[in-house]
Amino acid sequence: MELHTTICALATPPGEGGIATVRVSGPDAYAIVSKIFAPVRQGKSVADAKGYTAMLGHYLLHGAEMDECVALFFRAPHSYTGEDVIELSVHGGTAMADGLQEALITAGCVPAGPGEFTRRALENGRMSLTQAEAVMEVIAANGRQGAALAKSALDGRLAKRIGKIQTALQTLNAHLTAWVDYPEEDVPELSDEAFVRTLTEQKAELDALINGYSAGAVLRHGVDCVLLGRPNVGKSTLLNLLAGFDRAIVTPVAGTTRDIVEQAVQLGSVRLNLFDTAGVREVGADGDAIEAEGIRRSWKKLDEAGLVLAVFDSSQALEKEDWELMDALEKVPAIAIVNKSDLPTRMDVEAIQGRFEKTVSLSAATGEGLDALEQALSEILDTKDFHPQEGVLFTQRQRMDAQTALDSLREGEQALVLGLTLDAVTVCVEDALHALAALTGEQVSEEIVDRVFEEFCVGK
Ligand code: GDP
Repeated sequence: MELHTTICALATPPGEGGIATVRVSGPDAYAIVSKIFAPVRQGKSVADAKGYTAMLGHYLLHGAEMDECVALFFRAPHSYTGEDVIELSVHGGTAMADGLQEALITAGCVPAGPGEFTRRALENGRMSLTQAEAVMEVIAANGRQGAALAKSALDGRLAKRIGKIQTALQTLNAHLTAWVDYPEEDVPELSDEAFVRTLTEQKAELDALINGYSAGAVLRHGVDCVLLGRPNVGKSTLLNLLAGFDRAIVTPVAGTTRDIVEQAVQLGSVRLNLFDTAGVREVGADGDAIEAEGIRRSWKKLDEAGLVLAVFDSSQALEKEDWELMDALEKVPAIAIVNKSDLPTRMDVEAIQGRFEKTVSLSAATGEGLDALEQALSEILDTKDFHPQEGVLFTQRQRMDAQTALDSLREGEQALVLGLTLDAVTVCVEDALHALAALTGEQVSEEIVDRVFEEFCVGK
């Protein structure tokens, strides 16, 4: 990557808005902006502008005075990228911002690539790779929890947590190496017990981090969740209750939900992307073709779902279709909803409890029992004991590196159990340390960094 170019890009979302900001970063930022910025007050000049100050002016395109423009100055290294940076704000809408970018490019700027500002920040040591990834997550986060989560990584909490594991393993390795290299010296021999304890503790810590990844993913992106059950058990009513307004049509006639209704709902800390489906029901020869298509799609959706809410009607005895549904869900993460708890129970609830990891009794009509559903969700999705403020893994890349480190430690432990030489164990601990250095970006290939930034948007 060439670092001596001066880049520019629109930093605000394209389209209509109050203001549009174009950001310029690089060694020639001040020289280039000087050429296209005419200060309103006489005696002012861009070249002399101090960092953290603002200046009012107009920008010039091919010599013509254009829109009013506010320039905000940053001087290297005290800027986002660590380079000289100038942010130019003009009136919103695309016309003025486009003109401004054209002026900058004519004066010598290069259009920035995706994530190039953040990449420069990384390369100038302004942030770590995990913090750069967090920037992307903060931009993409669409729930309060998700934003909090990404922000915790931006604060470097993940780096701190990984750092602790690294320190423990490095100490262990220093001991091992000294002992293996200088057996005759008086290096105190590390007891097997202390050794195993360190390995076990760091394994547990990595395990917790890896588990936290899926919980974090659930909090950030939500979990795809299908409502299944035979017609009239109350799926649409439940969906409407969760969504808080009438989204699906609820009628007492079986077979009204013909297609998949999609709705994102927030239940406690969990976001569910809900799909209500046509009821699971056999369609006879005289069956309705549209409904049959809906049913086919329900089963397809089941393959893709992260979670199933299987709904049953407690006011009626279990029917053949209920049993078929239970059979179909044997290997799928699912919560059984025993609905219509406001009516007298005529169903064998125990039969259901025996088949599901979690069973929740509720009334979709009155909302009673919703707390229990919230509780069951946090338990089944493992979000209950999840504390983003402690630092969490939040990209697949990070999760895979953590997994490699964990696998290496397991191998090391195995080598110890099998009575292999300490050399063999050292190699495993070193492998784990390499994986962790890749995770934090301390030792990471250019190719991986490229891949991280490919997903960035331009202007960040
Ligand atoms: P779906 O076919 O599974 O989507 O079922 P619906 O949501 O359309 O509900 C079928 C019927 O059951 C409607 O008349 C609902 O008002 C009724 N119903 C749904 N949930 C409850 C409940 O918790 N209690 C009672 N008493 N009726 C309910």
